[in-house]
Amino acid sequence: MKRKILIFLLASVLILFNSCAVINALFGHDQCQYPDCENNCVENCNYCIIHCDKYQVPSNLNSKVDKSIRKQMEQYRQENKKNK
Ligand SMILES: [Zn+2]
Repeated sequence: MKRKILIFLLASVLILFNSCAVINALFGHDQCQYPDCENNCVENCNYCIIHCDKYQVPSNLNSKVDKSIRKQMEQYRQENKKNK
């Protein structure tokens, strides 16, 4: 009898944990949707600054800065691909 109670408790804990993970997955809008990416999303995008293709660097930024940011983002993307 004791064993059954223990199994029941263990199952309950597992179900609770699983539902928490599901809820986080369903409502985790703040996290990048890219696999294994834990960065926060940018506005109006389901992805972070690195993975959101919609992201645009503000036009008032110096074009050189703009270029270097894009280059860094590209490098980051390449590194992420390599690590997979
Ligand atoms: Zn990301």
